[in-house]
Amino acid sequence: MTTARTPETVTVLRDVRPWGGEPVDLHVADGRIAAVTPHDPAAGTAPEAGVVDGRGLLALPGLVNAHAHVDKSWWGRPWVSYGGEATTQGRIAHERAHRDELGIPGVDVTLTVLREFVRHGTTAIRTHVDVDLGLGLRGIEVVREALAALNGAVHAEIVAFPQDGVLRRPGVLDLLDAAAAAGAEHVGGLDPASIDRDPVGQLDGLFAIAERRGVGIDVHLHDGGDLGAFQVELMIDRTLRAGLQGKVNVAHGFAVGDVPASRQADLVAAMGEAGITMTTVAPIGAAPLPVHALRAAGVAVGLGTDGIRDLWSPYGTGDLLALTTQLARLSRFRYDEELVTAARVATSDAARFVGRDVHDLVVGAPADVVLVDAENVPDAVVRAPRRALVVAGGRVVARDGDVLV
Ligand SMILES: [Zn+2]
Repeated sequence: MTTARTPETVTVLRDVRPWGGEPVDLHVADGRIAAVTPHDPAAGTAPEAGVVDGRGLLALPGLVNAHAHVDKSWWGRPWVSYGGEATTQGRIAHERAHRDELGIPGVDVTLTVLREFVRHGTTAIRTHVDVDLGLGLRGIEVVREALAALNGAVHAEIVAFPQDGVLRRPGVLDLLDAAAAAGAEHVGGLDPASIDRDPVGQLDGLFAIAERRGVGIDVHLHDGGDLGAFQVELMIDRTLRAGLQGKVNVAHGFAVGDVPASRQADLVAAMGEAGITMTTVAPIGAAPLPVHALRAAGVAVGLGTDGIRDLWSPYGTGDLLALTTQLARLSRFRYDEELVTAARVATSDAARFVGRDVHDLVVGAPADVVLVDAENVPDAVVRAPRRALVVAGGRVVARDGDVLV
């Protein structure tokens, strides 16, 4: 179950069309793209170890899932019916009552989720992992063990996530600090106002850890309207004061989508000045984020699956390209350049969400490549065709729907 196979190492991925452009050969060394040359039809036609034929397919960088919860899915297990109340607090209570019977967190189920991501072309993730008084840091250990079993097929950053609240559960702030000290790249937060009922207190606690440990902050903010916008403003103030530009993310941030236009414009501009980023899971039923305005203001936007098939919701498949279609539709993207933007959000422009300087089909980037049979990028975004080949770190990790790790 946890035994990983050794996937084929790629030296040349020949005849692929990066971003739908002219056919090239991608040369790979030490897990990175070493050269990009015009496709040479004469070279590499004889079978040769490490030379993989891309058959003229469209190439995208590996998909980046900027908001996942790989520790708490029941993907691959018998169906679990939805139960409990539909509020945030109702979901928290339901999860705490039933996670033990599902063996969550567990290495095997986390591996099942990660492999599903790989199958769909995701090669890098930022995953939130529950940290609470019941689990302590065990969930993070479980996720690290699962990632290690995949032997580099998925590059990951971890957010120590206080799903059950921070200040209302004395001891959790210390756990977040311990997680940061032990290598978690970010500390998470959760609705500082509506869950802890102390927005200043929760955010001050998180920012103190970030300053002390040099980690990022990634806050789940479901609170909408003025209450949510107020908390974004608190985060802006603290980010500027602490000099943490580029290290603070608002996840969901429904308020940014649902406040009146003038308030939204001010908020987006201030977020851009503070270097705050946003991640969305493209939820149906919430006002969509103003993706174009955010990006124009310098607010990087990432896309994530959120938890898939867990005690919060039966929905989600782990297919980030299909979710890119959903983001594009919800955002009313129709022009080619808008559809390409959606693909950029899900790939190259998400580098920063997984701690990478560059994540693209260029020299020096990690050799993370997804091939699909599509005419061009807009066609790929609209249809989300099957991933024909997935290369991660220069190794073939999935082919035609089969996971090879
Ligand atoms: Zn989440």
